[in-house]
Amino acid sequence: MDTWHSIVRHSITTIDDLKKHLDGDFNALNDVIARYPMRINSYLLDLIKKHGPAIGRQFIPHPDEIHDTACTADPLGEEQLSPAPNLVHKYPDRVLLLVAGQCAAYCRFCTRKRIVGTPKMKITSEGLTTALDYIRSHTEIKEVLISGGDPLLLSDDHLAAILEKLRCIDSVEIIRIGSRVPCTLPMRVTPELVAMLRHFHPLYINTHFNHPAELTPEAEKACTMLADAGIPMGCQTVLLRGINDDATILRNLFRKLLKIRVRPYYLFQADLSLGTDHFRTTTDQGIAIMRQLYGHLSGMAIPTYALDLPRGKGKVPLTPDYIVKKGDILHFTNFLGEPCCYPEPKNFA
Ligand SMILES: *Cc1c(COP(=O)(O)O)cnc(C)c1O
Ligand code: SF4
Repeated sequence: MDTWHSIVRHSITTIDDLKKHLDGDFNALNDVIARYPMRINSYLLDLIKKHGPAIGRQFIPHPDEIHDTACTADPLGEEQLSPAPNLVHKYPDRVLLLVAGQCAAYCRFCTRKRIVGTPKMKITSEGLTTALDYIRSHTEIKEVLISGGDPLLLSDDHLAAILEKLRCIDSVEIIRIGSRVPCTLPMRVTPELVAMLRHFHPLYINTHFNHPAELTPEAEKACTMLADAGIPMGCQTVLLRGINDDATILRNLFRKLLKIRVRPYYLFQADLSLGTDHFRTTTDQGIAIMRQLYGHLSGMAIPTYALDLPRGKGKVPLTPDYIVKKGDILHFTNFLGEPCCYPEPKNFA
């Protein structure tokens, strides 16, 4: 059996290679991948062949990527909010630490598309030391979210060394890893990796599935191994036009995730990341979808629909408004659209 390393190494990265494996008009794509790299491994290629555009459009480059005039390169203002290399400090009690520049596959809608998979994303051990010094000296930081790129593309030893250094900082209580590997390269989740990770509890993993077709037996196995190691699993789905902007698809995805002990955490409104405008839906569409979930699906399977505000202003939840009229009596509609009311308490001084 191929090791995950060799699966990554043999990924499709050129247009000539893509043409050998898939049908389609890929001629205009050399300019696209010169700016934004492509990486499609054999596991994903099989999934694309089996399920078509719902998977393919996430990973196959598109000419629109270089004709985007609506979005900006660093929509979340990460570079302004960075007090040390590859560290983003936006919220008082938690930071984002970028430890890897590569991913198992390059999602075309990536929020860090400007740098991920390119030499612009420089990860050095000096930079990491500076970032760790910052975390150590800011004791208000209780949680470190490790992302990239994909941290699970690092070797077990390299990742263990980073986790070890974080665990030596007393003020850091929670470590959270963000990784799409359970979806894009599930064979990376080996017994050795899992045995290593369980030394660093409390450790959480937020993964990233966007479509029910991604929940293969292999993906299910990877998530189960991690959950069995006591790692609470969450999922950060991105709402993508023409891929999953549909209540039936998302209901199915969230229900299946819950069944394999991955709790839907966020459904993200697509960021304003340059080269991804063609994936965006309107927030009205997103809110209408959420309205078709509340009450119709286990509350545990319903993520928060969130918009990560431009310029690093933080995430805000977007929720359907069930309130029709406020006053002594609150008038609202329930999940079935029935009018309901609730008398407010009289003495609320
Ligand atoms: C999203 C994000 C976090 C984590 O936010 P949660 O709401 O706790 O998931 C932390 N730091 C940065 C910079 C972020 O963008
Ligand atoms: S796995 Fe995450 S970081 Fe990597 S390309 Fe996809 S969205 Fe971007």
